[in-house]
Amino acid sequence: MQLLKDRIIKDGKVFPGNVLKVDSFLNHQMDVSLFCEMGKEFRRRFENEQVTKILTIEASGIGIACLAAMYFDVPVVFAKKTQTKNIAGDVYTSRVESFTHGRIYDIIVSKEFLHKEDRVLLIDDFLANGSALLGLASLVRDAGATLVGAGIAVEKGFQTGGKIVRDTGLRVESLAIVSSMGEDGSISFA
Ligand code: 5GP
Repeated sequence: MQLLKDRIIKDGKVFPGNVLKVDSFLNHQMDVSLFCEMGKEFRRRFENEQVTKILTIEASGIGIACLAAMYFDVPVVFAKKTQTKNIAGDVYTSRVESFTHGRIYDIIVSKEFLHKEDRVLLIDDFLANGSALLGLASLVRDAGATLVGAGIAVEKGFQTGGKIVRDTGLRVESLAIVSSMGEDGSISFA
């Protein structure tokens, strides 16, 4: 999606450890008009999938998922991150390794909000090593729901997540795929 790529070139900043900072428009300050365009694009790509629910993960996925949900006219559920060891019974749970913080945490979704009749689209801001998406996919599987695919704003194509997740058979649609990031701050796309 050219609009997003242009914005990443204009405002994205490359940090050590293969981190792309897009805090000025995507995951701290949020450009809602841009999110609308991204939502429309996700809708276009998953138009025929009869999505009934969008599932994302707190916190950075929520804004993008909400604007996308406007175009699908479905609710958004966000998985909560928790460090609680003993998780109460009425939740689906899975384990995720945070790319940016290097920590492992549990994610939970209440059983009330994911059902076997649901056709679920996953949405997230970044795809790096794939842990977040695999964790979300596992929640959907546990609920017995149908996973129709994943919509990602920025995939870092030089990291392993895209291949790992696609190899599970999941359809992944990324609006911008970064193919390389240089120490000089240069960013190029696939
Ligand atoms: P993964 O689980 O695929 O390794 O990483 C995905 C998660 O890590 C996303 O939810 C995102 O919040 C975070 N993340 C991964 N790479 C980046 C990055 O380069 N920049 C930012 N801002 N977040 C990232």
